[in-house]
Amino acid sequence: MLYDLEKETLPREEIETIQARRLHDLCVRVYANVPFYRKRFDEIGITPSDINSVRDLHLLPFTEKQDLRNHYPYGLFAVPRENIVRLHASSGTTGKATVVGYTARDLNTWAELVARSLGSAGATARDFVHVAYGYGLFTGGLGAHYGAEKLGATVIPASGGSTRRQVVIMRDFGATVLCCTPSYALHLWEAGQEAGIDFRDLPLRTGVFGAEPWTEAMRADIEQKMGIDALNIYGLSEVMGPGVAMECVEAKCGMHIHEDHFLPEIIDPVTGEQLAPGETGELVITTLTKEGLPLLRYRTRDITTLDYTPCRCGRTHARIGRIRGRSDDMLIIRGVNVFPQQIETILLETEGLTPYYQIIVTRENNLDSIEVQVEVSESFFSDEIRKLQRREAGIQKNIKEFLGITAKVRLVEPRSIQRSEGKAQRIVDKRLLS
Ligand code: AMP
Ligand code: ZN
Repeated sequence: MLYDLEKETLPREEIETIQARRLHDLCVRVYANVPFYRKRFDEIGITPSDINSVRDLHLLPFTEKQDLRNHYPYGLFAVPRENIVRLHASSGTTGKATVVGYTARDLNTWAELVARSLGSAGATARDFVHVAYGYGLFTGGLGAHYGAEKLGATVIPASGGSTRRQVVIMRDFGATVLCCTPSYALHLWEAGQEAGIDFRDLPLRTGVFGAEPWTEAMRADIEQKMGIDALNIYGLSEVMGPGVAMECVEAKCGMHIHEDHFLPEIIDPVTGEQLAPGETGELVITTLTKEGLPLLRYRTRDITTLDYTPCRCGRTHARIGRIRGRSDDMLIIRGVNVFPQQIETILLETEGLTPYYQIIVTRENNLDSIEVQVEVSESFFSDEIRKLQRREAGIQKNIKEFLGITAKVRLVEPRSIQRSEGKAQRIVDKRLLS
């Protein structure tokens, strides 16, 4: 379903014309209103009049999360404080939170883009959208909420928590679309199992899952368990919140980034050079229309690809590939780079394992070592130690073979790894604690 037929199918030249105009206007705005950017422009020796095309983008400076922190809380806002009508904050496990601000127009754009995103998941005004992203300073809950309302759907603002009660509400209210993190979807499913509610018997048909990395293997697992289409939605608070990019149900192959509002690039995270379409690197986003907190070339730290080839759904906006990891989540184990998602893929290809896992990183004698703890499924749980040990050794061998690292593998009892209501904590880095 195309929510905004005209904008979602703009020909490439028209997208670029809109982007060029908006990019120039953005430079004028930040140069006039944000001292941080004016200083950067002056240092580089450029003025907004030098930026007239998408091809001029590389002339502009990057913005990093640290820049937001250095100007905490409101230093990068581009409008008078009285024009900001909402604040959100990104939790951030390390350092200060980052604060983001929205004008009334920003909130309207955000709702439009989430409505577009839900539309590309096949949702319409006839749907019941159950929002189990947390409501509050985190952008997930309210972002999904206002988008679903904009679409005209009936919203069930459940937020996180009271998991078993939520499953009952989903059944009784007839939820057809579920918005939450993929790990929380599995938690809901599990609570359903315990309460004797089978998701496959419910009217639920689509999941709009994001806010944390997940894999194709996890998608297959959720789709099979819940009997739904599980789709990927991407966003980050600095750039807007959920709904920056969204998969289409027709192709399920990459997330269309709303290019009339966001200008994406992929760069080499080390050199900062732009990479060609299809190459893997760090996603950088310039916000073309945001008023409250406009950002030039924001370094997301998310590792992915950009694909400009036509999609069979008819949308013309480029697609970002599944996020392979964050450059700051990448583990370097004795010189080998590994992302948690690579380990997840191996685990889920192994019969009898569940998607509940954690990676514990420690340092012994100055060498990093990792232990992967993963729950076995109820039906495979066996207290016969020798059998378990054989399986552990098998998984360890696969990790060594496919990723080139030695990881200790420990199979743990069903339900022993803590469930999360928001973003799952996959890595426990004990090196930071010592
Ligand atoms: P926050 O600003 O707290 O909402 O966090 C944003 C971050 O969540 C992004 O930079 C990504 O690292 C992660 N994220 C959001 N959506 C996805 C997704 N669909 N797949 C993988 N990671 C995601
Ligand atoms: Zn598509």
